[in-house]
Amino acid sequence: MKFNTKTIHGGQSPDKAYGSVMPPIYQTSTYAQTTPGGHKGYEYSRTHNPTRDALEKSFASIENGHYGLAFGSGLAAIDAVVKLLQPGDEVVSTNDLYGGTYRLFTKVFEKFQIKFQFIGMENADQIEQHITPKTKLIWVETPTNPMLSIIDIKAVSAIAKKHGILLAVDNTFATPYLQQPLDLGADIVMHSATKYLGGHSDVVMGALAVKDKGLADQLYFIQNASGAVCGPQDSFLVLRGVKTLHVRMQRHCENGRVVATFLQQHPKVEKVYWPGLVTHPNHEIAVDQMNDFGGMLSFTTKGNNYEETIKVVERLKVFTLAESLGGVESLAGHPASMTHASIPKEVRVKTGVLDSLIRLSVGIEDADDLMADLKQALES
Ligand SMILES: *Cc1c(COP(=O)(O)O)cnc(C)c1O
Repeated sequence: MKFNTKTIHGGQSPDKAYGSVMPPIYQTSTYAQTTPGGHKGYEYSRTHNPTRDALEKSFASIENGHYGLAFGSGLAAIDAVVKLLQPGDEVVSTNDLYGGTYRLFTKVFEKFQIKFQFIGMENADQIEQHITPKTKLIWVETPTNPMLSIIDIKAVSAIAKKHGILLAVDNTFATPYLQQPLDLGADIVMHSATKYLGGHSDVVMGALAVKDKGLADQLYFIQNASGAVCGPQDSFLVLRGVKTLHVRMQRHCENGRVVATFLQQHPKVEKVYWPGLVTHPNHEIAVDQMNDFGGMLSFTTKGNNYEETIKVVERLKVFTLAESLGGVESLAGHPASMTHASIPKEVRVKTGVLDSLIRLSVGIEDADDLMADLKQALES
């Protein structure tokens, strides 16, 4: 089955009870037993729920995995991955990282004696010097947030395999429409399904997919034991979102290209970060590992003026000024005052998060309206 069919049919079959084509929302916590232990595969909804099962099979299918897991949020999914580790273990992670992941690693798991190193991975050769006998997990986010750097998953995977270390990839920005980390050698792929998989900015959810049965069993154990699962209603909504993932992504990519090209030519714009531009420093790797380049992009305005940049984002009308990404509607954010405000200026500037950096999640509206909106915001 090809990807554009898997989004709709992957792991799905008509419901056993009445043949309903769409999975029913099994809004139940528990299931009747005929005799103690005599049930139809479902005992309690933290452990299993038929609607969540349908979604988990879909996650596995679109990521070319064998097992999928759904969680109450992206961070709950990451939390489950880190719980595979023991005190004393070490993690090597990408440095230009989703802020919530950084907070979970440093503020929650460091307390339990897990050690994290945050490094630039654009050059995979630099990873090995950070690996010790205690390193048990490499955490990669690509494209990175908000600088849209691209990390070579295959190259990182070779290093992870050589040292017997698990490799997990946060695939939220790319989605399996653009890249399939498990096929590139990752052991675990993770999503904030809140973003493109759900796709309509109406659910918070997380996902994992893996190929290996032993790893899946450990993760299912943690999912049930820690209990950060999602409900049946949200499972239904994300399953519905996944069915249009490929059509939405196609338009996100087309609009991303139009907006990136428009901004690159605009006299008030200094620099555009979009992996599809030949000027992007990791463009070659992006061409190699991605099918297209997505709808996420960042740019800086000339003069690097904090107040002026805030005025630009305030003037936007079609783009909504908001955190998050990946919905059908276009969103704009100002990392320096929003997502990255808590990071000291010297630190954020080092990774490229200047005062004038604006991040766009380009939606699937008419590209002409998006360009016109950016034009009036930049020029008035
Ligand atoms: C949003 C996001 C997360 C966290 O997911 P939640 O669903 O908000 O918990 C993790 N990684 C990336 C790249 C994200 O964009």
